[in-house]
Amino acid sequence: MKTEDQQKKGIALLGCTGSIGTQALDVIEAYPDYFDLQVITANNNADLLIEQAKKYRPSTVVIVNEDHFEKVKDALWEDDIHVFAGKDALCQVVEYGEVDVVLTALVGYAGLQPTIKAIEAKKSIALANKETLVVAGELVTKLARENGVNIYPVDSEHSAIFQCLTGEFHNKIEKIYLTASGGPFRGWSADKLKDVKPEQALKHPNWDMGAKITIDSATLMNKGLEVIEAKWLFALEPDQIDVIVHPQSIVHSIVQFEDGSMKAQMGLPDMKLPIQYAMTYPDRFKTDFPRFNFLDYPSLTFEQPDRETFKNLNLAFKAMDEGGTSACALNAANEITVQAFLDGKIGFLDIAEINRQTMESVANIQKPAYEDYVKVDEEAREKANDLVSK
Ligand code: MG
Repeated sequence: MKTEDQQKKGIALLGCTGSIGTQALDVIEAYPDYFDLQVITANNNADLLIEQAKKYRPSTVVIVNEDHFEKVKDALWEDDIHVFAGKDALCQVVEYGEVDVVLTALVGYAGLQPTIKAIEAKKSIALANKETLVVAGELVTKLARENGVNIYPVDSEHSAIFQCLTGEFHNKIEKIYLTASGGPFRGWSADKLKDVKPEQALKHPNWDMGAKITIDSATLMNKGLEVIEAKWLFALEPDQIDVIVHPQSIVHSIVQFEDGSMKAQMGLPDMKLPIQYAMTYPDRFKTDFPRFNFLDYPSLTFEQPDRETFKNLNLAFKAMDEGGTSACALNAANEITVQAFLDGKIGFLDIAEINRQTMESVANIQKPAYEDYVKVDEEAREKANDLVSK
């Protein structure tokens, strides 16, 4: 017989100290009869991890950076919380019997391996780490099918598409429109963008997010990565995916069906809603989040993205067309260039330029196995690093 705790949804939250992670903890805390927080993991932020462990009482925590192991262990030993360290631990905790849902809120390529392990252990995935599908969508979606595992999107645009599709899964999608805010530099010329500083790029008009994704939003790479993510999540062909700039970020995305009808999901921009829906689907739980008021937004506007100036978006479409490991190389290059930009080593426009050169110079492997992704990721990082230091 199951105990009361086992009736609840056991959650493993990978990446608990970031923007998505901290909001996910708020969501989990709001429904103590429904969620049972089993595992939380952090990469580097030991202080916040300790604070969260004491507050939210998971059974297990993982600190990926082993340098912080002693500190975390000492801080939590009297709380009767298991503490592990290292990347391998990340892959082991997702397999725990008490875990039903793995919420992947890690940043970048680091999310791939634990997500694969979680799928192999037949856990539901609430996917906030879009890079997992960008890098290895072909492999990950195949594994999910084989293991009968559902991947629930946390990304707001993909959650919107998913919400529009609920009750419509048997109907063919003609097209989807991913909405983009356009970021802080919408309408800027290349000439003006040359001298952009990291502080300017880190100011997003509508969403409060981590540094990596905020820079990706400013370069439109985030939308490019989301295009690839959508291809894999919803099994679409490249020509079924379009991007439309919608600066108010109220329409979160749109599905167009074969009869021409379009469904959109709307609301104020608040990541807690897609985080929650990914974990409560097919149910909707009552929240006290602020409600949308039409009179605050008398006009919702739409425009074409400027792909000439923001070249990353085209690179993502190209990577999607090429298939194989092309998107893996693009993602790896982009992780290097974004960090280099934040460190003041390259300019804003160099991000897309180095991404392009890297993608072109790393050989594309079709029908990749896991090892091919690892190899291409390494190669692309090396190439992009070379280009950064030139
Ligand atoms: Mg998004």
